[in-house]
Amino acid sequence: MCHECELDAGKITRHASAEETVASPRHGQPTTFWSRWRTGRDHLDGAALPDPARRRLVLGAGAAVATAGLLSTPAVLAETRVARALAPSRRQGRGVRSLRFFHTHTGERLKVTYAEDGEYLPDALDEISHLLRDFRSGDVHPIDPGTLDILYHLRQQMGGSGTYQVISAFRSPATNDMLRSRGSAVARRSLHMDGRAIDVRLTGVETRRLREAALKLKAGGVGYYPRSDFLHVDTGRVRTW
Ligand SMILES: [Zn+2]
Repeated sequence: MCHECELDAGKITRHASAEETVASPRHGQPTTFWSRWRTGRDHLDGAALPDPARRRLVLGAGAAVATAGLLSTPAVLAETRVARALAPSRRQGRGVRSLRFFHTHTGERLKVTYAEDGEYLPDALDEISHLLRDFRSGDVHPIDPGTLDILYHLRQQMGGSGTYQVISAFRSPATNDMLRSRGSAVARRSLHMDGRAIDVRLTGVETRRLREAALKLKAGGVGYYPRSDFLHVDTGRVRTW
């Protein structure tokens, strides 16, 4: 269960329109996706260092073999597993993968292409990670690209034009502890703390329909919060609540 997700929803109501495409502002010196992995500050278990010169992260199981040095990074492992789970869609996955976000707590918007011709775009992942930071503490954590792939495939199935309204994404340990102190059922260790979970709505789509599509994907965890009208998806094991 993901009770802390419900706490984050608060009294935020569905926004009428989130179709604007203003990029979110970046605050201070951006910390790159790669540098954060390299420094190991993000609880990524001392992931092996990718080649710093490598600007793109290759998608797909076959490509992953060729980039075996990257395989110990949890994000890549998650992506390849998600990519396998989404195999039918992957055939259409060449080309551009784009997403639109509106963060309900910060008011920031982002329209971004995060993968192109089967490769992730690190700068775009950085922008997304910034938008999906802990909105309470401001802490930024790399978002698992597999989470983005789930969002991308769901959006495609729903017509490909909606904006994701973000209720919550990354949560720092301090934020999680604070939420735990407010609700006894909050998990000690949430996938939100690893950048592998996100709570969203999709504009123009009933959340229960989004849930049905997410359940069919079988790409990870799916939690439905009808009272607050949002869906939790993550790249953990397949489970439902
Ligand atoms: Zn959640």
